[in-house]
Amino acid sequence: MNNLSIRADFPILAEQINGQPLCYLDNAATTQKPVVVMDAMNRYYRQDNANVHRAAHTLAERATNAMESARLSVARFINAASPDEIIFTRGTTESINLVAAGFSRILQPGDEVLTTVMEHHSNFVPWMMAARQAGAQLVAVRVSPSGEIDQEDFRSRLTERTRLVAFAHVSNALGTVNPVADLIQDIRSRSNACILIDGAQAILHLPVDVQALDADFYAFSAHKMYGPTGMGVLYGKRHRLETLAPWQFGGEMIERVTLDDVTFNRLPYRFEAGTPNIAGAVGLGAAINYLEQIPRIQLLAQEALLVEEAAAELAHMPGVQLVGRPSHRLGVVSFVVDGGHVHDVGTLLDQQGVAVRTGHHCTMPLMDFLGVNGTVRASFSLYNERIDLERFLLAMHKVLTFL
Ligand code: PMP
Repeated sequence: MNNLSIRADFPILAEQINGQPLCYLDNAATTQKPVVVMDAMNRYYRQDNANVHRAAHTLAERATNAMESARLSVARFINAASPDEIIFTRGTTESINLVAAGFSRILQPGDEVLTTVMEHHSNFVPWMMAARQAGAQLVAVRVSPSGEIDQEDFRSRLTERTRLVAFAHVSNALGTVNPVADLIQDIRSRSNACILIDGAQAILHLPVDVQALDADFYAFSAHKMYGPTGMGVLYGKRHRLETLAPWQFGGEMIERVTLDDVTFNRLPYRFEAGTPNIAGAVGLGAAINYLEQIPRIQLLAQEALLVEEAAAELAHMPGVQLVGRPSHRLGVVSFVVDGGHVHDVGTLLDQQGVAVRTGHHCTMPLMDFLGVNGTVRASFSLYNERIDLERFLLAMHKVLTFL
């Protein structure tokens, strides 16, 4: 079925690395950018650059329109009820920190924040800090040996003390797709807790409808979906955002300031202090338009097949142990090699032009829980093709003979 190709849209994929054509399998860390995204950002700086919202001149109006039309694209892409519910941030990390900063003032001693062992540090440490500041508790749901949320543990740890539940849609370390819709329904049926979903790894690989999901907050980064770095989104339900205190103060986010008081701007601007990343928003908007134009569903099916095949082939290689065998996996295969340090495996693959990530993937509690120091992680995207899988497997066979 491997007859769809969007490879030519991504010039970097034609690079030679260590004398070999690039085989890019580090997409969970960041994706490459199509020409249309780079062109849109370039065009913005060449033709439309000005600061937004403040001036009466034409360029300022064009810059403002460019940013606000990106906000509309994001709202459409995730089916938000209103563009006012789309806050532009630096990325998933900042989106989660924004909510955690607000919650550090809402949480009371004795309250609990429920998260899981599999979270990225950016969906773990902000809650640890917020809970600590408020005298509340951080509670982490266990993960099964196959790398899935332990649902029984989840059920028992959600209590009347739980004020907020935060977990990933898709695990960046193992590729586990969490049963987010079921978990949210379960939480709603038993609790008034606020729900935040870390969508960093899901946003490209799954259609996301925030209204159907019914999460209160959904966070993601532009750079994991063919957009630029330094740009991200916090979706929040209007009533949740309205009860959250702003966390950064300055221009754009105020309504009126006097010598001794201040009132804050309306949504979404009250959470966007200072000059925003306008070109970043333009790039994100262009990435979304691109994703809406390619045959995404077919490409996702093609990618899912490659990932499944990678997992199955690796599982048969002598000395290779898969880390995590989730029943529903997307994008990512993680493994260790007997007697080989993960960084050595990464370096030997790089020498053959294959780019993977090695280490703890910013999930140290998960690595501790699974009893590994780190893994080798191969992560796929919509532009990866069978040739990438074949190159990776061949390179792995060479690594194994070498180690
Ligand atoms: N959560 C998950 C699941 C991630 O994969 C990442 C990025 N590795 C993040 C959060 C943080 O995203 P960013 O660095 O773009 O803020």
